[in-house]
Amino acid sequence: MTATTPGIAEPPPEQPTEDVRPASRVVVVGGGPGGYEAALVARRAGAEVTLVEQQGLGGAAVLTDVVPSKTLIATAEWMTIAERAPELGIRDGGVPDPTGTHPAHLVDLARVNARVVELAAAQSRDICARLESEGVRVLDGHGRLDGPQRVVVDRTDGGTETVDADVVLLATGATPRTLPEAMPDGERILTWTQLYDLTELPERLVVVGSGVTGAEFAGAYKALGAQVVLVSSRDRVLPGEDADAAELIEDVFRQRGMEVMSRSRAQSAVRTDDGVLVTLADGRTVEGSHCLMAVGSVPSTSGLGLETAGVRTTRTGHIEVDRVSRTSTRGVYAAGDCTGVLPLASVAAMQGRIAMAHALGDAVVPLDLQVVAANIFTAPEIATVGASQNSLEESGVRYRTSMLELARNPRAKMLGMHDGFVKLFAHATTGIVLGGVVVAPRAGELVFPITLAVAQRLTADDVAQSFTVYPSLSGSIAEVARTLHHTEVGSR
Ligand SMILES: Cc1cc2nc3c(=O)[nH]c(=O)nc-3n(C[C@H](O)[C@H](O)[C@H](O)COP(=O)(O)OP(=O)(O)OC[C@H]3O[C@@H](n4cnc5c(N)ncnc54)[C@H](O)[C@@H]3O)c2cc1C
Repeated sequence: MTATTPGIAEPPPEQPTEDVRPASRVVVVGGGPGGYEAALVARRAGAEVTLVEQQGLGGAAVLTDVVPSKTLIATAEWMTIAERAPELGIRDGGVPDPTGTHPAHLVDLARVNARVVELAAAQSRDICARLESEGVRVLDGHGRLDGPQRVVVDRTDGGTETVDADVVLLATGATPRTLPEAMPDGERILTWTQLYDLTELPERLVVVGSGVTGAEFAGAYKALGAQVVLVSSRDRVLPGEDADAAELIEDVFRQRGMEVMSRSRAQSAVRTDDGVLVTLADGRTVEGSHCLMAVGSVPSTSGLGLETAGVRTTRTGHIEVDRVSRTSTRGVYAAGDCTGVLPLASVAAMQGRIAMAHALGDAVVPLDLQVVAANIFTAPEIATVGASQNSLEESGVRYRTSMLELARNPRAKMLGMHDGFVKLFAHATTGIVLGGVVVAPRAGELVFPITLAVAQRLTADDVAQSFTVYPSLSGSIAEVARTLHHTEVGSR
């Protein structure tokens, strides 16, 4: 019961208010991280959401790219750790091998790949169940625009369906680039999506392309026990990455017995009776049992009906977007690898979330590539965040930098880790941390304090004054920050 005040009329009983605005209709084309994260955000904002996917939920990220490659690399990482066993006083408990030719552990690739495929499928099923439980309508099929507010779906089970939309998000991803003279056959000449059909370790794998994908697979297959030749058209592996980190990885590759061919452009790959012959632009040839083509990706934007809606693309076929994921057409947004902004699952998901926040009237923070953390899953890993040394040099910003070898870290010594370093960049005047590089086993986990520092604009002194566990690998991050304090202002 509520008390009433004499002389003041009682307000009429509250009527339940009914939101008479119709829910926005959102159609998402593509069910990778760019698409499915956005679909969930849109549902939470009260929209009616339809998601169209032709291959399987989770997209290439879950089914062929991130999840399978990192699951395979988990086995490779275990093999790399096992290499340190003798140094740590562990010996093979079996019968000693007098020839020394048999390693203590052998990889059963059929089992490894069965695990990879099952793990990816399970994650795809989880995503599907989550979307459906949140009320997203999932349509299996190929979607294309028919004007800015309509998506036509060629359903996988036959028939065509038309879905009207107030907002469309295109998140169609990318597929492996192929060369006409080196067409993959799925048996000996492979793209990374075809590797998981292998049931036996390739005897000699020729990896064409030394970008992130080529380097990750070359390193992984070497650790799994294959002979590996890495064919790189550039001066060194991982062009575009931190030069010290790339140099270290190339040295580690060579020390492990990988053949790294620099300044060697592959022109063709053909099958021979029992393997593959790769011919380089200068006429040299490389023989292998298998060849992995890792020469980049092309955006999946053809056949999407972009022209019917006036959605502009770049010269490379990527969809043009701004920092809130808007395309050139009102109401049509795009996210992920089809935009070519930065090909990472985390960036795709963020672009998708930003698109929905913008479209459905929620608070929007535009995409900031300066705070993206990325990791290359070689052994050791290379994790980076914020400004790179190259970008700082180009921009003319006055910065200080310091680098500490991992081998000096007490925990690294105990663990038998020799290769790696921590490098920080800070503004010369303010001391604000602008970026950093960690090269170490599990660098992808270790980089987080630097990510926090960059995102929250902490100074090197803030990092230096924070406690780290003793002994710990992260102790090196605080130690590098301390050396930055002592570096004379203005020096590089
Ligand atoms: C080998 C490899 C390893 C990688 N590892 C990492 C990593 O460790 N960390 C990381 O952050 N990133 C990694 N990446 C990058 C990451 O895979 C991509 O950035 C991410 O998949 C992009 O997500 P997306 O949603 O844009 O596209 P995708 O994941 O490619 O999903 C797009 C989906 O759209 C579907 N589709 C396309 N066209 C249509 C259509 N017309 N109708 C219906 N459906 C359609 C496709 O079938 C696909 O399922 C890796 C990439 C590769 C190649």
